[in-house]
Amino acid sequence: MKYQRSSQLFKAASAVIPGGVNSPVRAFKAVGGTPVFVTKAKGAYLYDADGNRLIDYINSWGPMILGHAYPPVIEAVIEKAQLGTSFGMPTEIETKIAELAVSMVPNIDQIRFVNSGTEACMSAVRLARGFTGKEKIIKFAGCYHGHSDSFLIQAGSGAVTFGSPNSPGVTEGTAKDTLLAPYNDLAAVAEIFEANPSQIASIIVEPVAGNMGCIPPQSGFLEGLRALCDAHQAILIFDEVMTGFRLARGGVQELYGVNADIVCFGKVIGGGLPVGAFAARHEIMAHLAPLGPVYQAGTLSGNPLAMAAGYAMLQALESDAEVFERLAQKTAYLHAGISKTLKAHQVLHTINRVGSMISVHFSETPVVDFETAAEGNNERFKTFFHGLLNAGIYIAPSAFETWFITDALTYEDLDETIAAVAKIAPSL
Ligand SMILES: *Cc1c(COP(=O)(O)O)cnc(C)c1O
Repeated sequence: MKYQRSSQLFKAASAVIPGGVNSPVRAFKAVGGTPVFVTKAKGAYLYDADGNRLIDYINSWGPMILGHAYPPVIEAVIEKAQLGTSFGMPTEIETKIAELAVSMVPNIDQIRFVNSGTEACMSAVRLARGFTGKEKIIKFAGCYHGHSDSFLIQAGSGAVTFGSPNSPGVTEGTAKDTLLAPYNDLAAVAEIFEANPSQIASIIVEPVAGNMGCIPPQSGFLEGLRALCDAHQAILIFDEVMTGFRLARGGVQELYGVNADIVCFGKVIGGGLPVGAFAARHEIMAHLAPLGPVYQAGTLSGNPLAMAAGYAMLQALESDAEVFERLAQKTAYLHAGISKTLKAHQVLHTINRVGSMISVHFSETPVVDFETAAEGNNERFKTFFHGLLNAGIYIAPSAFETWFITDALTYEDLDETIAAVAKIAPSL
């Protein structure tokens, strides 16, 4: 396939936008080559500036769970746009999507809408601190909660060390309030609680991790976090920006039967428009302005176009009793096909999958945390990525990303993908 036009567009973009992109991973730095510029998308397919058709396994990093340009979403947005695009005043559609979200997700009474997953997580932590009167938070190495300062913290040596910033611009003062543990390591979390008595406001976790590839919680991990939070009067935040409305109607809380105190949303909840949200029981949400003292606001929050898109998306998921099972089956089919093909060519790999999230790791050891995810062979991943791209198949341009399966994918699409893997496998 040719990518001449994309190359030209990237060059022009790079002159006026840092790195040519508005979010770093899009720049293809991890895999080399030129990012693909999209012109349109429909169902399971992207169409790029050079006229190539690509089978899409990213789906805007998750939101397009029912495929691109999903007609009920598009119609809802067009209809709303004609009535005006923003008022900065309450509208009824905000209540409708809130009622629907609260009815689908267990254990929440109220929800506040924001404009991104980053905002949702940042606000959730502020609320947890305001509610508990404590300052420190625990996060897990390799979990991503958006780009606000408190979350851009790298693991130090050992679990019970102060975090150190891994982006210039994050102050030491901020970093010292974020304590790190390896994912799936309950003992490390317990140690942090012991070393910081009465200081931990909250644990924030991706209850199924998706930002170091897909990593499921090991048996007892989420239950253990719940118990530790209960024992130490800390707030358990499930960052379900990726998993919410994707792994089950009620997300990971429903799937694994563990209750969080605050749940963050993004991606699917906006149907492809910029939306995030955080939700909790009444007693916690009562601390949020204007009811309580914890401040949080947004000029475009609850934007009518975004709410209409999200509402149409949630309605579609709510009214289709089989959708999550269907997605899981398609993903299992892809998993089996790729695994069989790689095995046949003696390519060492580990595939992780939960529901419609899946990732292929070029390493032999089980991938259970950031350290084991980092053991993957990145050269092999690059060959895999570019091989697939040349075959018209688009996966994330980084070995640390999950693939997002959409219901628009047909079994023919999946077979085409598995056949492409078979062609690449000998060169891996
Ligand atoms: C994508 C993501 C975020 C950040 O959401 P943005 O909308 O990109 O700000 C936060 N947490 C998780 C788990 C995510 O996957």
